[in-house]
Amino acid sequence: MFTTLNSLKNYSEQAIQAARYIGQGFMVTLDHMNRLPMTIQYPYEKLVPSERFRGRIHFEFDKCIACEVCVRVCPINLPVVDWELKKEIKKKQLKSYSIDFGVCIFCGNCVEYCPTNCLSMTEEYELSIYDRHDLNYDQIALGRLPISINEDLTIQTISNLSYLSKGSTEGHSNSRNVTNFLN
Ligand code: SF4
Ligand code: SF4
Repeated sequence: MFTTLNSLKNYSEQAIQAARYIGQGFMVTLDHMNRLPMTIQYPYEKLVPSERFRGRIHFEFDKCIACEVCVRVCPINLPVVDWELKKEIKKKQLKSYSIDFGVCIFCGNCVEYCPTNCLSMTEEYELSIYDRHDLNYDQIALGRLPISINEDLTIQTISNLSYLSKGSTEGHSNSRNVTNFLN
């Protein structure tokens, strides 16, 4: 009889302890619910890419000397440089240039090593299309100027951490704690 009562007491104590732990966990969860969300509501809000962000590559046809350095430094020899030798002027003449963004890993090697700076990385990252072959950009598509999200008045831009002032970690106006908000 005594043993049964003792085990029942032990069991009750353990159950109370477990309930206390669950209650503490629940209070932490409630505290998180007391904060305003830090979500970026894409596509109505977009994060400003950093200055060195490696997005879609921009190409300037007139600057290219068809040296093919970009092909040699590319991990997969991706850029297709089509040129012909003009014997009368003893120079290569570029005929066409293309990069397949379905294969490109956006490492930026080609941009780093291009001797005439005709390649550059843009902040464009919205390249998705329905046909895989549409990702093979020719010199016309590569030469298109990037659309800056700062110029798009239909969206709200959110600064990323690297653009925020010292000590600030919240780029979003809605990311304040409810308690701070009310003060
Ligand atoms: S970004 Fe990298 S993978 Fe893409 S074309 Fe340039 S070197 Fe090649
Ligand atoms: S490295 Fe630059 S200049 Fe040379 S072929 Fe490539 S894009 Fe043209």
